[in-house]
Amino acid sequence: MRSVEEALAGILANATPTPSEWLPLDSCAGRVLVHHVVTAASDVPPFANSSMDGFAVRAADAPGMLKLAGEVAAGSREAPALAAGTAVRIMTGAPMPAGADTVVPLEEAKESERGVRVPAAEAGAYVRPVGLDTRAGDQVELPVEPLTPASIAVLASLGIGEVEVRRRPRVAIVSTGDELVAPGESLEPGQIFDANSAALAAAVAEAGGEAVILPLGPDDPAAIEGLVRWGIAVADLLVASGGVSVGSRDHVRTVIERIGTLDFWRIQVQPGKPLAFGAIDGRPVIGLPGNPVSALVTFELFVRPLVRAMLGLSGDGRPRVQARVDEAIPKDEGRRAYLRVVVQRDGEGYVAFSAGGQASSQLRPLAAANGLLIVPEGVAATEPGGTYEAVLIGAIR
Ligand code: AMP
Ligand code: MG
Repeated sequence: MRSVEEALAGILANATPTPSEWLPLDSCAGRVLVHHVVTAASDVPPFANSSMDGFAVRAADAPGMLKLAGEVAAGSREAPALAAGTAVRIMTGAPMPAGADTVVPLEEAKESERGVRVPAAEAGAYVRPVGLDTRAGDQVELPVEPLTPASIAVLASLGIGEVEVRRRPRVAIVSTGDELVAPGESLEPGQIFDANSAALAAAVAEAGGEAVILPLGPDDPAAIEGLVRWGIAVADLLVASGGVSVGSRDHVRTVIERIGTLDFWRIQVQPGKPLAFGAIDGRPVIGLPGNPVSALVTFELFVRPLVRAMLGLSGDGRPRVQARVDEAIPKDEGRRAYLRVVVQRDGEGYVAFSAGGQASSQLRPLAAANGLLIVPEGVAATEPGGTYEAVLIGAIR
């Protein structure tokens, strides 16, 4: 059995980034740049301009009564030059008139038929100098994470209209089990709704990938082989769920072994001990346990970092906090547990509560949880008053 670290290292060992593609800037929300450092082609802002609606003046003329000599608005191609003893009405974003060095905001000036009375002003006040944000030639470093609205705005302000991003990793999803019926259809005796296909597809999208959901697979080796070959043909990575354990109807692992290579199939983790990892035709294949909580938690631990590695990102992109626990939440002593908890602020720190039943079939506590509390191997329960690391999978409310 692999430890969580050994299993993750094995899964990430041969991860290769997807090829790149060029996209218009307005279509790349959440996409990942190939180059996170860009060279600025021009100054931002490209010219000195006013940060307020007011009057452009010479600081040397203030305080005083100045003659109003024209007006300049945002978008004006040229600003009137400013003569000594005069002021020019200026709008936010308008270019500074030559000769003016200062802006007096409207609310500080008093306008009359005789002109504009301005108070004393500090030279440069309310002027955004050329290149305040960025100088032409600057190396602009953006965070190595999916593009945020702010990073997109930085690129746009630099005049970049198209960017080179990683293609979203395509992830084929194959849920297996004779008992499964697609949600929306009706159940016959002995059947349950497939909770995994749509959920794993959502987890793929959240990680930055693109899911391809294949039809539900019966517990039949030939059918599973057909679906696995299909997934491998259309995707960069195949994620199956169910059928990786030791039951006589568990065929996913044996199919991987037969038509590809199986690296390992058990991890010391709770939930999720049976997890098969291997490769077919050079593409990674992961068989997750079928229990929906196990499938989603092991996706979080092992597939999310793989999808991110294929995007050129490191880690899982999740914040972590230390949280105190006041209850004894039981767990399997032999495995590291990722308990479903609600993390809340508590003074300077955080406190975590069990989000509900911790069985790997109990989905609602997972949906209610905003954290996975990491409780190490070798203990059979959390220690009341003890502090544990929690991976935040949702917002703190
Ligand atoms: P397995 O991993 O195939 O042994 O399945 C373990 C448990 O998870 C069984 O109770 C299955 O019925 C259940 N299960 C497997 N796949 C799904 C699924 N897609 N949706 C909901 N439950 C599932
Ligand atoms: Mg099954």
